[in-house]
Amino acid sequence: MSDILQKQLSRRELLKGGAMLASIGVLATTAVITSTPAFAGVPQAAMQYRDTPNGKQDCSNCSLYVPGSSAKANGTCKVVDGSISPQGYCVAYAAKA
Ligand code: SF4
Repeated sequence: MSDILQKQLSRRELLKGGAMLASIGVLATTAVITSTPAFAGVPQAAMQYRDTPNGKQDCSNCSLYVPGSSAKANGTCKVVDGSISPQGYCVAYAAKA
């Protein structure tokens, strides 16, 4: 086998090895992400959540609120756990921009 052919084979094998290592990395990352439990949110009491507004501040105009099926239906929150009233409020309130 010529030197050039041996170098090409070595380079090919090196690239194959690199691709295999990258694949293993992707699989390992995917396994970690899929095995991590879903974020449950901070308990309502810990955030002093209440189902009444604080003046004009309420969940419906908070950037962390995820609306329910209608404007009056309870939704969820990206921070606080459980069912969240659109008229609710907590200390994590963050006005929509
Ligand atoms: S962060 Fe607080 S105020 Fe904002 S939506 Fe969640 S519970 Fe409501």
